[in-house]
Amino acid sequence: MKTSLNTQILAGAVLGIVGGFFLRALPADSSATAHTLYFASLVAGIFIGLLKMILIPLIFLSIATGVANLQAHADMKRVWTYTLLYFFIASSLALVLGLAMVNIFKPGMGIHLDMFKAALTSAPPSNLSLGQFVQMLVNGLFVNPIEAMAKGEVLPTVVFAMAFGIGMAMLEERVKTLRQLLNESLDIIMRMVSWIMRLAPLGIMALLIKLVATQNTELLSTLIKFVGVVVGSTLIHGFFTLPLLLWLTTRVNPIFFLVSMRDSLITAFSTSSSSATMPVTLRCVTKNLKADKRIAGFVIPLGTTINMDGTAMYEAIAAVFVANLAGIELNVIQQVIVFWTAMLASIGAPGIPSAGMVTMIMVLQSVGLPVEAIALLIPIDRPLDTIRTVVNVEGDAVGTLIVQKLALKNDIPSIQTDL
Ligand code: ASP
Repeated sequence: MKTSLNTQILAGAVLGIVGGFFLRALPADSSATAHTLYFASLVAGIFIGLLKMILIPLIFLSIATGVANLQAHADMKRVWTYTLLYFFIASSLALVLGLAMVNIFKPGMGIHLDMFKAALTSAPPSNLSLGQFVQMLVNGLFVNPIEAMAKGEVLPTVVFAMAFGIGMAMLEERVKTLRQLLNESLDIIMRMVSWIMRLAPLGIMALLIKLVATQNTELLSTLIKFVGVVVGSTLIHGFFTLPLLLWLTTRVNPIFFLVSMRDSLITAFSTSSSSATMPVTLRCVTKNLKADKRIAGFVIPLGTTINMDGTAMYEAIAAVFVANLAGIELNVIQQVIVFWTAMLASIGAPGIPSAGMVTMIMVLQSVGLPVEAIALLIPIDRPLDTIRTVVNVEGDAVGTLIVQKLALKNDIPSIQTDL
């Protein structure tokens, strides 16, 4: 019997987690552990490498052709407006929920920062003020496209591709051949994505074996209440808020949505990188959810780097947690500052593992909290990064369907009936 790729991916994820726990049970210096970890790293490296290989051409082609084709239909302005509006509303809902949860459960109260003196003295040197961060963000937008693409930088590639797409749309018939060429190139790249997906079950298994086997869980249990608030809030946003937003605007069945996005969500969980997951996300949204390719080609690459609900929420919760540890009570105005800086930090964070940790510094600084506390958060970041990345990716897919419904007034074809 031939099992579907979906089932294989799920099986890969389950085997990876079970295998990881099995390795933990073996003595750390056993040769079985060393060999398994070696092969897992090798396979994981190939899988991530392939996703990264395809990422930049995919972003350029999907945005340039998406924008060109939309502009031709004079729908671009509406798509822009609804996309940015959706990003803002979804992140705000995530932030409000995160701040409410952390204020209700108050993790960190009663634990004192000086209990972690050893960890804190090894804190990385850091100073990233809000001003510097905004400057960095803006400067990072306009970069020589060859340089940006060579370095795999998503945001400047998105900016260049958009400008290119607009130019192509304005020149209309004169660039008919190029438009066709790029559309066809995109089809080829999507075909390559489907080849890479064949490796996904193994790649995901390898990534999860590594993740589970090498995690330090001790600190995780010390900080159990904080971890609980982060996980709880992220799950509420992912399983309740986002599906509800989707259902209210498009009437798409949330369960069908989540099942259709399964490959992408599992890839996000195991890679902790929305950028690496982007090819899979685009494939799930256009193939399983039958989203309009022009909208998906615009919203997914843009959202991958600027729309991160899970990251925004995490940064706000972590800031209040650090305040509690330090015995500082943040007043309402300070929490509003946390809200805005966490939103900005999530926009600026690239879609790579632990990116949120770097921009976190700015959030802490914005309300005068000790930046050294990062040293406490870093060791537990990898496990928490898994689920916030899932929600970051889910938010982009939800956004695609919502924008499609609102901007094109399209009913989303055949979605409910496929269940
Ligand atoms: N890993 C996250 C992502 O790729 C970013 C973060 O660190 O929050 O979406």
